[in-house]
Amino acid sequence: MHSISDWRIHVTMKTLADAFHDELRDMLSAEKQLVKTLPKMVKKATCEKLTTALEEHLSETEKQVERVEKAFGETGRSPRAKTCEAMKGLITEAEDMLKREAEPSVRDALIIACAQKMEHYEIATYGTLCTWAESLGYDNALQLLKQNINEEETADEKLSELAKTINKNAMTTG
Ligand code: ZN
Ligand code: FE
Ligand code: FE
Ligand code: FE
Repeated sequence: MHSISDWRIHVTMKTLADAFHDELRDMLSAEKQLVKTLPKMVKKATCEKLTTALEEHLSETEKQVERVEKAFGETGRSPRAKTCEAMKGLITEAEDMLKREAEPSVRDALIIACAQKMEHYEIATYGTLCTWAESLGYDNALQLLKQNINEEETADEKLSELAKTINKNAMTTG
């Protein structure tokens, strides 16, 4: 049996600041994984508008990595990524999908589906991080993370818009 004081000795997540730091490390990993994966999705896309949208989001993602690194400032700890298993899983699914034979517009529709799962995961995590940064009074981090969440939301909306035409084309192929 462990007494409460004994249990506390083993706890590494003592405060919301610890949770924030841990989740920020997860996000740093997620963004870094996306920097490596987005080019693969670009290569497989057919629709030029989709290619452009993904390329633009890739260059945004590179800047997002830098912002997340800067957001560590107020934690007083060094920016070190911790593997985001969720993004790793979403990327595995995307890679499996990209390997399969598909009509070009159907593949584009599938690429959008995978990309939007990634965007939604990012939006969820940045949402939490923004709320926590606000509670903790990490003003600089909050400002940086808000910039990132805004970009993710815009990217997500753009993909929904592109899907309208692509899905229509995907219904008439094959
Ligand atoms: Zn113990
Ligand atoms: Fe991102
Ligand atoms: Fe994660
Ligand atoms: Fe994104």
